[in-house]
Amino acid sequence: MSTGPNPTVKLRGGRPWTPGDSGDGTSADVLVRDGLVAAVGPEATEATADIKLDCGDRVVSPGLVDLHTHRRQPGKEEAETIESGGRAAALGGFTAVLAMPNTTPTIDSAEVVREVLELGRSAPCAVHTSGAITVDRAGERLAPMAEMAALGVSLFTDDGSGVQDDALIRRALEYAGGLGVILAPHCGVTSLSQGTCMHEGLVSSRLGLSGQPAEAEELMVMRDIALSRLTGTPVHFLHLSTARSVDLVRQAKAAGQAITAEAAPHHFTLTDEVCVGYDPLFKVHPPLRTPADVAAVKAGLADGTIDAIATDHAPHTPDSKELPFDQAPPGMLGLEYALALALTRLVDGQSAAPDPDEPERGGIPGAAGPYGGTRPHAAAAGCNT
Ligand SMILES: [Zn+2]
Ligand SMILES: [Zn+2]
Repeated sequence: MSTGPNPTVKLRGGRPWTPGDSGDGTSADVLVRDGLVAAVGPEATEATADIKLDCGDRVVSPGLVDLHTHRRQPGKEEAETIESGGRAAALGGFTAVLAMPNTTPTIDSAEVVREVLELGRSAPCAVHTSGAITVDRAGERLAPMAEMAALGVSLFTDDGSGVQDDALIRRALEYAGGLGVILAPHCGVTSLSQGTCMHEGLVSSRLGLSGQPAEAEELMVMRDIALSRLTGTPVHFLHLSTARSVDLVRQAKAAGQAITAEAAPHHFTLTDEVCVGYDPLFKVHPPLRTPADVAAVKAGLADGTIDAIATDHAPHTPDSKELPFDQAPPGMLGLEYALALALTRLVDGQSAAPDPDEPERGGIPGAAGPYGGTRPHAAAAGCNT
């Protein structure tokens, strides 16, 4: 037997899970030979292997890919580095992530793209990067998308804020169409969301916190569906969070438009009720919405309107997330919990609405668990900024 560069590996006792699998939780051994799955079940159990790993009750699956991860490097390495984020990704089962461009400096040129890709080479998972639509994500003039696309960047976004100028986003779509790349808008009308810190509704009124209406997101989803139709350029919507946003995308898809969309784990597991304790951990952007919105996001995932779960993993330093709710930066971790939340809240059919009376955080396994757990680098907020 050899333990050379490509040893035969037996994964014992895990729960194999593949796309399309019903996920019934049956355990089975898996044999990996020459980097490929060679056998699952009794044949794998009986085979010899160079390395044997006991998987306990863990899921054994193809590596997950996150379409939406915030790295803080370059610029805010005290919150997270590409390497530490890679470790969080690997811990959550992700083997590839797409970094958002809201770093310092912004990933809006070939030079910064090269730097991020270089830093990513030593990370424990594959690191790809998106590029900004506009220079410094300021929404004023287009970034040099062609020079970034030439380095392999295929998704462009000003994530953290929406491009407010209708004519500019139209031009960006026309440009993206010519380059064969995708635009991925963070939908939010700034004039409706500026200065707010949570969803506008009964809970924000009760808490005396400024809220942003669901329409801040929906108006831009509506606009970008229209401009995608006008230009014929595909659009990928980041983190849909409201019922009407999901419906708008459903209708656009039914009409044959080249639209895709994603949702973040916190938007199908948590409602704005969890903000009652004023814990900035639950401050995200777009904000946590109502139970009806959570149900709509789940329905969108179930019927394929929403194509992907993407984490919007957005680390901040602990001291920044200990600021008062209205001052803390928005964002939440996700890489380490996305799979577990998807399996328990979607596949196992548990209630989407968290129970605020549970001693644990809003029904989510507590201060030491999903969302609450990794304070060391959770301290912060995300698209999240
Ligand atoms: Zn965003
Ligand atoms: Zn984001």
